[in-house]
Amino acid sequence: MFLCYQVDSPGAIIEHLEPVLNQTIHLRQLEFQQLFSIGVASGDLNTMDVTMLYQHAQLAARANWRSTHLWSPYQQDLQSRQHRQLMLVAEMSKAIRNHDFHFEIQPKIVLSTGQINSGEVLLRWHHATLGWVSPADFIPLAEHVGLIYQLTQLVLHQVLSWMQQHANQLHGTTLAINISARDLLQQNFATGVIELCKGYGISPRSIVLEITETSVVSDSGLAVDNAALLRSAGFSLSIDDFGAGYSSMQNIHRLRPDEIKIDRLFVSDLDSNPTNQTLCRSLIQLSLDLHIHTTAEGIETEEQLNLLASWGCHSGQGYFFHRPMSPDEYLGLL
Ligand code: C2E
Ligand code: CA
Ligand code: CA
Repeated sequence: MFLCYQVDSPGAIIEHLEPVLNQTIHLRQLEFQQLFSIGVASGDLNTMDVTMLYQHAQLAARANWRSTHLWSPYQQDLQSRQHRQLMLVAEMSKAIRNHDFHFEIQPKIVLSTGQINSGEVLLRWHHATLGWVSPADFIPLAEHVGLIYQLTQLVLHQVLSWMQQHANQLHGTTLAINISARDLLQQNFATGVIELCKGYGISPRSIVLEITETSVVSDSGLAVDNAALLRSAGFSLSIDDFGAGYSSMQNIHRLRPDEIKIDRLFVSDLDSNPTNQTLCRSLIQLSLDLHIHTTAEGIETEEQLNLLASWGCHSGQGYFFHRPMSPDEYLGLL
């Protein structure tokens, strides 16, 4: 903790601090790199005590974990946000124990034929007092606090068991399940999933694993090994939110996916945005050259569909075709 009696921006002091924190520590032939996050709080010590100042700095430091900036300032709303997040984490743990999650399925359409060839499993959580909590809120949080591993296992069990019950209604279509890049960093992730499928009598060929791009994947040999093992067992791998991540090309090289999904970000204003048109067309061409399937996400208009189809995009998903629906509705549609 640094306590500074000055009113200027703390940036200059922190700049001096950074090289010290970044120093490698040598301990018995081992090298350690420190992870750190920096939070800054300021106040008038005539009106607030040091303890409170320290707590504010800690909240800011916690927020800094998720920031790309070297340091984060304390902001008033951090306290309430932090409070909500702690509450969500506690409720999520409970919900995982009680299996309070269910899933919906959004059909994936082959653009050239209009047929459904697959469906994406999307997790849903309805909380008694909070109502619907969006996966866009709770998944990143689960990743942050390490609950994601249990959550992924829960989804896998639920989906595989459902597939087992409805095998003959699925007509040889595949189901896509979202997994976190962090799952791939677990030592025995691939063998666990392979065993699980065996247990439920489900062929890995009927499963696509969608992995959201993050820097984590490309940095780790473990992730690459897990991906290779899953692929050789027959699972298809898909890189989700392609182009919105950190190191797309590296991920193609290291994970050798069967599919990339073009992020909704690029599709949403396709009709009017020439830059996104170029990006989409190039991404599709790139995957055609590499013999990788492309799926475009978030297709909402016929114009978007026509453009994507004319560039050779293989399949698509979005409200234009179907919103995510209950598993029963999905079977009906199939
Ligand atoms: P995602 O994998 O990119 O999933 C697509 C999201 O876009 C879904 O949001 C879907 O409902 C929404 N969507 C689909 N078509 C359209 C469209 O035409 N327009 C618009 N505006 N949105 C569309 P959802 O269900 O809220 O999921 C958000 C994210 O949460 C997912 O993004 C995925 O990253 C994550 N997620 C969901 N379920 C799971 C899960 O079981 N495991 C993991 N690890 N992540 C999950
Ligand atoms: Ca996905
Ligand atoms: Ca996506």
